[in-house]
Amino acid sequence: MQLTATDDVFVLTGAGISAESGIATFRDANGLWENHKVEDVASPEGFARDPATVWRFYAQRRAQALTVAPNPAHRALAALEARLGDRFLLCTQNVDGLHEAAGSTRLVHIHGELMKTRCSDPGCERPPFVDTRHDFAELPRCACGALQRPHIVWFGEVPFEMHAIKRRVQRATVFVCVGSSGVVYPAAGLVAEMTYRKSMGERVRSIYVGLERPANAREFDEVVLGKAGLVLPALVG
Ligand code: NAD
Ligand code: ZN
Repeated sequence: MQLTATDDVFVLTGAGISAESGIATFRDANGLWENHKVEDVASPEGFARDPATVWRFYAQRRAQALTVAPNPAHRALAALEARLGDRFLLCTQNVDGLHEAAGSTRLVHIHGELMKTRCSDPGCERPPFVDTRHDFAELPRCACGALQRPHIVWFGEVPFEMHAIKRRVQRATVFVCVGSSGVVYPAAGLVAEMTYRKSMGERVRSIYVGLERPANAREFDEVVLGKAGLVLPALVG
């Protein structure tokens, strides 16, 4: 990928970039996420029905995340950021924390963070906080009395910072997507902004890197098939 001195790079990552670190993507297992139905452990309805199962699930995810390390794909993006500075932004759908572990700082977690907890009452003013607890004796509660919940965007909930992210995509000249199946919206729709700008005559480009063609493959100028940990370091230099 040839970058010029004025390129502004926007990167969107999905579960595939963390696969080589040993974290399962959930498309790999027929919609099951570590043997759970996604709607049971990743929806507000699932949490309302059975908060203990949901907390057990995220406690396991936290315990696992504490044992894994970033791979060459995460490191390649941190190195690219070091070169480009403010002409770079990384938007991740992953909740695992591996991008920051690799050194990324210009980073937005649109689907939340595994190692944060917040009050489940939307009216409560206590902010999300860093929380690595993963062996609860009882369900964690906020000082206001409501149950606490993982600071994660579940299905049916609105991703964080989408307005700012869209504005940033509108000024990017290069859009790179890594390891995302292209079925979870609105994130999967971001690349369409580049397609629109191309149709208006702007010189912008988009590239997908992953194991298989994503559902939104036709939006990309280029699809490079392969493992992120092999392809990305070579691609970004
Ligand atoms: P997805 O599971 O739907 O798709 C993963 C994609 O990565 C697939 O297209 C697959 O072919 C590709 N892939 C698998 N191994 C790869 C590799 N080594 N290199 C490159 N690509 C590879 O993931 P998604 O599109 O991110 O959507 C799933 C949602 O689930 C996200 O919102 C995310 O928040 C959540 N999730 C997060 C994690 C995590 O934080 N690591 C893990 C599972 C799911
Ligand atoms: Zn509260």
